[in-house]
Amino acid sequence: MIPQRTLDHAIRCSGIGLHSGKKIQLVLHPADVDTGITFSRSDLNITIPAHADYVTDTRLCSTIGKDGANISTVEHLLSALSGLGIDNAHIEVNGAEVPIMDGSAAPFVFLIQCAGIREQDKPKKVLRILKRVEVSDGDKRCSLHPSSGFKVSYLLDYDHPLLKNRSVNIDFSHQAYTREVSRARTFGFLHEIEALQKAGLALGGSLENAIVLDQYRVVNESGLRYEDECVRHKILDTVGDLALAGLSIAGAFEGERTGHQMNHCLVTALLADTSAWRIEELTLSASGKEANISEQELAQQQA
Ligand SMILES: [Zn+2]
Repeated sequence: MIPQRTLDHAIRCSGIGLHSGKKIQLVLHPADVDTGITFSRSDLNITIPAHADYVTDTRLCSTIGKDGANISTVEHLLSALSGLGIDNAHIEVNGAEVPIMDGSAAPFVFLIQCAGIREQDKPKKVLRILKRVEVSDGDKRCSLHPSSGFKVSYLLDYDHPLLKNRSVNIDFSHQAYTREVSRARTFGFLHEIEALQKAGLALGGSLENAIVLDQYRVVNESGLRYEDECVRHKILDTVGDLALAGLSIAGAFEGERTGHQMNHCLVTALLADTSAWRIEELTLSASGKEANISEQELAQQQA
């Protein structure tokens, strides 16, 4: 069997919230089998499951909430947890957002690796995609369809010389999340960031935690971490948004020009159609070979 995984021990860090600009404490805790990923606001004593049912906003990031308490920018941390195959963890923050760190998932990967990963005594469960589910809006479109392992392909197509018609495909059965995806930073356009900050948003946004683009080029003096870093960040976001299905997905995602809002619509449409998926425990397959996800996890451990 492929066991469920949690953290070996609790670990903490602090960082700036992208939207508030305030310093936020973050603590990652181990959690029991079959409890999934949960968040809590330690300042309000409210726990919020990391599940599509609790998504309250998808405009600039993915926000979850309950009883009037919200936590924004959960997607990069969820992406790191999912990418490293963590099934159960409890995340505590003392404010309304997860710190932005460097704008990628790499600091969270580092944190999880420092805490250590512990295998638990029940088999991992996945949401196996059985038929195609698609949502679209004009030229934006995304879908999930059956596939042996977890794959994500994404087409970015902005009216910008660096972001026109760029696509990346990642097959997590063979490619490592840590190496191929986790270091890709979020990005924004200089004129949009100035407008957001005038409106009191993205107050913590800077060249330290985002790729900033002007009309023609990357403003950050250090340049890019991957030649196609912006598309890879879209894949990082997608892995995090899909984690809000509540279980790892065994299937393939295809996205064109989509973001958090459409990813959320897709997860909601998927969960609503109970003929489109089934929950599968990852035990030995009929051929005696472990299911495909083991290759994915092996690749990630080797990253
Ligand atoms: Zn992002």
